[in-house]
Amino acid sequence: MKIKENLCRPGGCESGVLRRLWALALAGLLVCAPLAGCGSTDAAKDMGDSGELAGEPADGEAEGDTASDGADGAQSGANGSDADGSNAEAGRLSKPEIDPDDPYLLLVNKTHPLDDTYKPDDLADIKYFAADRDAAARYMRKEAAEHFHQLSEAAAVEGHEIVITTAYRSYGFQSVLWNNYVEKHGEAEANTFSARPGQSEHQTGLCTDVSSPSVNYQLTTDYADTEEGRWLAEHCHEYGFIIRFPLGKEEITGYQYEPWHIRYVGTEAAAYIHQEQITLEEYLNVLD
Ligand SMILES: [Zn+2]
Repeated sequence: MKIKENLCRPGGCESGVLRRLWALALAGLLVCAPLAGCGSTDAAKDMGDSGELAGEPADGEAEGDTASDGADGAQSGANGSDADGSNAEAGRLSKPEIDPDDPYLLLVNKTHPLDDTYKPDDLADIKYFAADRDAAARYMRKEAAEHFHQLSEAAAVEGHEIVITTAYRSYGFQSVLWNNYVEKHGEAEANTFSARPGQSEHQTGLCTDVSSPSVNYQLTTDYADTEEGRWLAEHCHEYGFIIRFPLGKEEITGYQYEPWHIRYVGTEAAAYIHQEQITLEEYLNVLD
């Protein structure tokens, strides 16, 4: 469950001083190009729960624990930026024009599945990850991966370690996960926390599950109450990501609250979605 001991292992930088050094080193790109990777071998876990460690919710796929109400990080108000299109009077962003062909606004959910052959052609390595997860899931589309790196490095400067646990999953990978959950929990229950093959956003290569030392790199709704989880909720939009399955929007997204699952939509859309505290479905006005 633990990231291997090494220079980059955040948990190894317990003291404020060391932590700050780690952050600065990261910011200066002096270490950890392969950060979480940091020389570790891939201790791939059983494919059943794969992507995630045994006993933890495998995202899309949360566990059923009730979300605490500490998600207020995600509730922060509008940012006051004065970007193009903003309503200067109120300091609020106007809704951007939506390009139906924008690849980063691809909607995948229970009613908008991908087919089994869909695979992004620009998957790129992610540098910052929990070292004991499946190496096959350490990819996102190039632009999303680059923005995730910026996010992780900015968090590090603030003293927070945010790394991925699982990003891209193939259709086949999701099939194995789904079948395993159905076997364990039955189809109806599995459908509340996992995704059928083709219905997982992870197949887009535009999302990732993240975690941090404070929750021992697990996927748990408690993450919303941690410093890292709060930072993520408050700042991920600056890097083009949104909290994809927010608290209180389960009826729209079809999934339980997942403070660890972030989806890349581009900075413009993310800023507006964050400001309005809406879902991707609402942003795209696709609620069927
Ligand atoms: Zn996820």
